[in-house]
Amino acid sequence: MTDIPDLFGSMVFNDALMQARLPKDTYRALKKTIAQGTHLELDVANVVAAAMKNWAIENGATHFTHWFQPMTGITAEKHDSFISPQSNGKVIMEFSGKELVRGEPDASSFPSGGLRATFEARGYTVWDITSYAFLKDGTLYIPTAFCSYGGEALDKKTPLLRSMDAIDRQAKRILALFGNTSVKRVITTVGPEQEYFLIDKEMYLKRPDLIYTGRTLFGAKPPKGQELEDHYFGALKPRISAFMHDLDAELWKLGVPAKTKHNEVAPAQHELAPIFSTTNIATDHNQLTMELLKSVANRHGLACLLHEKPFAGINGSGKHNNWSISTVAGSSGDKGVNLLEPGETPHENAQFLLFLAAVIKAVDDYQDLLRVSVASAGNDHRLGANEAPPAIVSVFLGEELTEILDAIESGAVYNGKEKISMEIGATVLPHFPKDTTDRNRTSPFAFTGNKFEFRMVGSMLSIAGPNIILNTIVAEALCQFADALERSEDFTGDLARLVKNTIKEHKRIIFNGNNYAEEWVTEAENRGLLNLKSTTDALPAFVAQKNEKLFAKHGVFTKAELHSRYEILLENYSKTIHIEALAMAALVKKEAIPACVSYQNELVQLLQAKKNCGGFDSSLEETLLKKLSDLSAAALKKLAALENTLADAKPGEDALLTAKFYRENIVSGMADLRLVVDEIETLVAKKYWTLPTYAEMLYSVN
Ligand code: ADP
Ligand code: MG
Repeated sequence: MTDIPDLFGSMVFNDALMQARLPKDTYRALKKTIAQGTHLELDVANVVAAAMKNWAIENGATHFTHWFQPMTGITAEKHDSFISPQSNGKVIMEFSGKELVRGEPDASSFPSGGLRATFEARGYTVWDITSYAFLKDGTLYIPTAFCSYGGEALDKKTPLLRSMDAIDRQAKRILALFGNTSVKRVITTVGPEQEYFLIDKEMYLKRPDLIYTGRTLFGAKPPKGQELEDHYFGALKPRISAFMHDLDAELWKLGVPAKTKHNEVAPAQHELAPIFSTTNIATDHNQLTMELLKSVANRHGLACLLHEKPFAGINGSGKHNNWSISTVAGSSGDKGVNLLEPGETPHENAQFLLFLAAVIKAVDDYQDLLRVSVASAGNDHRLGANEAPPAIVSVFLGEELTEILDAIESGAVYNGKEKISMEIGATVLPHFPKDTTDRNRTSPFAFTGNKFEFRMVGSMLSIAGPNIILNTIVAEALCQFADALERSEDFTGDLARLVKNTIKEHKRIIFNGNNYAEEWVTEAENRGLLNLKSTTDALPAFVAQKNEKLFAKHGVFTKAELHSRYEILLENYSKTIHIEALAMAALVKKEAIPACVSYQNELVQLLQAKKNCGGFDSSLEETLLKKLSDLSAAALKKLAALENTLADAKPGEDALLTAKFYRENIVSGMADLRLVVDEIETLVAKKYWTLPTYAEMLYSVN
């Protein structure tokens, strides 16, 4: 491999390139615009566009695209070439500031949840100057936000940026209370650990269910699953290792700081984690990572499965969203400070405790929204299924931190390792114990020393959604704290009381035990915690009045924007299940039944022949035939039931009712049918079973 520092970011028009290629005053103007979030002047944009174009062309680009994140959860791009015809029959390569800053894609085919009537087809894409442009496959990619003619956000980036502004505003109020007035900006940071499966591409192409739905709709259990726990952190097989090397190089070129890679718990399952960055950039990068996982896998004769549950019976995939709050490093050399890092001094620790209390309060007050933020048809297979965190939201703090909070609440002396009396204010514990407890892998929201790890996110989901929620709910808690403390005439005393009361009020959300245990479900219920088991149980909370108010207050979603997202999520759920049911019915008719019939035919002929000859034991043929023909009949019945129910599923006016219909009737109909077909698979001879089996898919890559 070439020089990695040289390779890293080589396809990105980053700050170093801007500085090198832009006239000084243009560079300064651009930096100022980025720092202040103000409007980019057209003359500046023109100069930047020209420099970008020249760099792009030097590196083989012919096109540019406004890259955006519509509410589909994936990215969208339309490529325009740089050519501009001249009167002499030739072309020149052109790219204007206007083209850089703003695009007008025909947006009528993107989901808008009723925000934009189709006759108002135009939407705008606007360059997000906080995210660098980059080069991929001969095209200059410009990260953009996407909005409607009326200015409503039609994408995931705009509300994410708004939520970043919200937490910036509120966190700075808190910092000011601690005398910290020089902080220019507070951001949240995210490091998303991405899980995925890799299988042989040949097999993938033979599984229409994987192609159409991203998951297997059938498949008998293989003799070996993950029982031996021999895959986790196991040695990488050569093909996987070659793929990972290639992927890292591609990601590094695009400035994605890919750091960790390893085998995961399930066979054929792996994980990739980057070094954390600003939430907005981490989100862009995660979208790129998901795309590259697929395209690089393809080059290696592999298929990458990003679905939350590609295979029943073995672990699904998630995305651990490591999240923290940080001040931004200043130009004068002061470093960015992680505000969830327990500090060295009592003063810092009081501030840390306040931020910690804000997160605890936010998670408790808005359990519903956190659950909503990870709700999808795919993730329904994971949450609560004994492998991923349950659908109940709770916070893990570890024993020592919990003891400290207990001591604060009861006013008792903290008798921990450092034996120092606990009083918020000047005598607060000088050194917090850090990361001394065992990590709890079952918690949905775990404090891991200096950040929270939100583990409910599905592997396929854009991380924009969960982080919009996290940023906004913590902004709200900080806002309430600031409102109270700004009025205070006894800061130390009021701060102590505030932390104490917050712990008292919200400690029900703290749970350090085993989140997979049956007893937790009962205990959580006793504590009054929500248990929103499925997407359809969870989604209505999105538009609850208290949440409408929250988003409006912090300028993250207008009521119309919020409702549009709600509609899209519901529609998306129903459509996903609809496609799965159709794919399942087709597979049964085209693959499972014909295989079953052919095998029965072979058995019938043998049985007949034996009978003709006389004197042979035919119990095997008879028993098998009986079983198979009973199962075929059962399959047919379940298939008919599924198809009938599907015919009844008429997407109506009410998206929630429709989604509930799918949840209550279709999902169970599919499960019933699957049960029968999986049993048939175990009985039919291999030569008739054309679908690659679980064993083949999970163990074929070397
Ligand atoms: P584990 O697998 O033990 O949870 P990893 O080291 O694989 O931990 O992943 C931790 C992730 O958390 C990495 O992406 C890392 O960059 C990220 N991370 C570390 N510190 C922060 C922080 N302050 N804010 C956000 N993410 C962070
Ligand atoms: Mg983790």
